[in-house]
Amino acid sequence: MSATQFICPDGQHIPILQCLTACPKQTRCMFLPTLRAIAKSVNRPITEPTVTELIAGVRETYLKKTMPYAVSPQRILYALQGQAVHTMHERCTQGEILSEIRLKDQITSGQFDLYGKILDTEECVLGDLKVTSSYKLMKALGIYKQKIPTGEIYKTGSRKGQLKYKTILCHDGVRHVWDWAVQLNYYRMLLEQAGFPVHRMYIQALCRDSGLRIAAERGIDQPLYIIPIYKISNRWINRYFSRKAALLQQAKDANILPPVCSSRERWQNQKCLDYCDGREFCSYGRKLQQFRKAG
Ligand code: SF4
Ligand code: SF4
Repeated sequence: MSATQFICPDGQHIPILQCLTACPKQTRCMFLPTLRAIAKSVNRPITEPTVTELIAGVRETYLKKTMPYAVSPQRILYALQGQAVHTMHERCTQGEILSEIRLKDQITSGQFDLYGKILDTEECVLGDLKVTSSYKLMKALGIYKQKIPTGEIYKTGSRKGQLKYKTILCHDGVRHVWDWAVQLNYYRMLLEQAGFPVHRMYIQALCRDSGLRIAAERGIDQPLYIIPIYKISNRWINRYFSRKAALLQQAKDANILPPVCSSRERWQNQKCLDYCDGREFCSYGRKLQQFRKAG
């Protein structure tokens, strides 16, 4: 099932069709074409679980596929930014670069962004476009903050005699690109199965909050980064996706809610609190929200 309702800024739920036909408020919360674009983006006519849906938690995907969930147009506007970037690139491939083609196998389907001579003279390069936050970029680039002693000591106050510290940015951390790497590697496999070899893979990430102080504090001082993605074995990728597809199918066949998503899939609960479209129907998500309300 797809999203069937919009959540208005005052919290009221309204069927998407009703919103698009006539807003019951005095004025719409955004332009009608913007709402139509959002409605289109949340209602994709794809029945099989996609690569991105299988990377998400099985419970989340199960709920999104079976329940009539609601989305807030204000909160998913960012998805339109991503779509605009994709459309812009699709129009500039000049017939020599493949783009936005959905490929399918017996497990799933996925739509790669760009394939061809996209970076240098080498053919067969797979590229994926992301519009993301400085926080996610900081993690993806392996940047982290560390406190180091300045060599000075507090001379007065409650911390008198204690060492002074300052925070510095280090660039040698673990690159948190697991979800991007798994996604791109599946696209690679789909392309290879279709007879298109993939020699290298890259993410081109546009920073959504580039130029803001918060981005600079995270060490993100460019609006765009090219991030290489390394090969993961076909065997591992196949096992991972087959297992998740099987769990999803079993849940759908038995009409039984799958187990709570893993900590990584839940973004350490952040997703359950604010971003998961299935949270309204998930006991775990509802419990977390009650705890937050109780303060
Ligand atoms: S236009 Fe905005 S306020 Fe009006 S019904 Fe739609 S979501 Fe609600
Ligand atoms: S609310 Fe959390 S646990 Fe529940 S489906 Fe969503 S991500 Fe998974």
